Amino acid sequence: MTDPEPDADGETDAESEAGPGGEAGPGGGSGDHADPETLAGRVLDGEVRLYELEDQVDAATAARVRRLVVERETGVDLSATGAFAFDAENATSNIENLVGGAQLPMGVAGPVAVDGEAAAGEYYLPVATTEGALVASVNRGCSAVTAAGGATVRITKRGMTRAPVFRVEDVAAGAAVVEWVEDHEDDLAAAAATTTSHGELQSVTPSLVGDSVFLRCSYDTKDAMGMNMATIATREVAAVVERETPASLVALSGNLCADKKPAAINAVEGRGRTVTADVTIPREVVAERFDTTPEAVAEANTRKNLVGSAKAGSLGFNAQAANVVAGIFVATGQDEAHVVEGSNCITTAEARDGGLYASVSLASLQVGTVGGGTGLATQSEALDVIGFSGGGDPPGSNADALAEVVAAGALAGELSLLSALASRHLSSAHEELGR
Ligand code: NAP
Repeated sequence: MTDPEPDADGETDAESEAGPGGEAGPGGGSGDHADPETLAGRVLDGEVRLYELEDQVDAATAARVRRLVVERETGVDLSATGAFAFDAENATSNIENLVGGAQLPMGVAGPVAVDGEAAAGEYYLPVATTEGALVASVNRGCSAVTAAGGATVRITKRGMTRAPVFRVEDVAAGAAVVEWVEDHEDDLAAAAATTTSHGELQSVTPSLVGDSVFLRCSYDTKDAMGMNMATIATREVAAVVERETPASLVALSGNLCADKKPAAINAVEGRGRTVTADVTIPREVVAERFDTTPEAVAEANTRKNLVGSAKAGSLGFNAQAANVVAGIFVATGQDEAHVVEGSNCITTAEARDGGLYASVSLASLQVGTVGGGTGLATQSEALDVIGFSGGGDPPGSNADALAEVVAAGALAGELSLLSALASRHLSSAHEELGR
């Protein structure tokens, strides 16, 4: 599903700005117009715009022409950028003005044993990063978690949110709109359902702030991360609210969503999937794999992740959840900007009779196994390595499984880094690995 508005705009622009004699229009790809060097010259002469190249040639050639243009303009050799493995045509739904691929090293950690409701077994974690020692650290954590019998993981909430903001006359008018919305959630869900066969509007939470009304709409988006789906569905919700009440839509996203911004509401209410994982690692495994004790790890967690984070006014109370979330997100085609919310994690650790109990709680993990960047070549391979790509049976189960595996990976990363700090091995580990 695509948003019809940008598509319509794009078509209008391309038609109105076609060159003389329709040269820039569809079908103009014959003869010397299709030659990359010639096309690059026409772009540099201002006859064709960078974003119009797909009207003339296929997406891969258009990317090559743009590289030629940028190379001539900047003097930079883009041969590495041009060596990419994904299908350029498919990537046009992910990017505009394609020039090539930005490649990162990808390593694999694990396997890590996961006892979840959708994921049950041992899973390799593809991690794309430039931080030396990260994969080694997560790998060490995975081996300890697996030796302990695996991480238990549960998803307690699902809901991708979009929160439009409306203008009303005053507080009394706003309160009436809030009341109408509360009485008509079913009608709003029916409007949302006209736009998607998978997404379901689960709830609408109104907030009145002076003469602004916010409606935080929460959707079950199944195996899609769901931000496009939720935005398109919310457009229909907003249309009903505008039709039936005096509220006037100001912005389809009113930042109470809250998408890609650090926000307490996501930590408290959740966004995407709310996932918790825990493990109890026997004392001897802590000694053997981490060269430390449960007491030392628990103390490091309390003083660093809890006290230190509180003193810093942090939203997240963890050691390196963002490292694992970002590494897996980039490897598997998630929206990398969602690391902002996805790494919102509280880590706990305590010494128990049996050893070290540890948990991570990720309040707002946004993942999908369909849509977005999940279909790109290396990202789709990485999802296949984990074992969950495409639509699940039942729908939603693949994204649930991915969320559970990411949470287990985050737990492994927390344990490993806390242990490195507790045993004072952090700097020597980085030194040994050459950075
Ligand atoms: P999408 O690729 O736009 O849509 C997912 C598609 O998958 C839907 O068309 C859905 O069909 C279909 N689908 C097939 N099988 C499915 C299954 N088992 N479960 C769920 N859906 C299934 O992806 P999206 O997740 O909604 O949005 C992700 C994209 O949004 C990313 O590229 C991200 O960067 C971008 N994004 C957009 C915004 C925004 O404001 N628009 C904000 C942030 C990020 P039906 O809907 O017809 O059922």
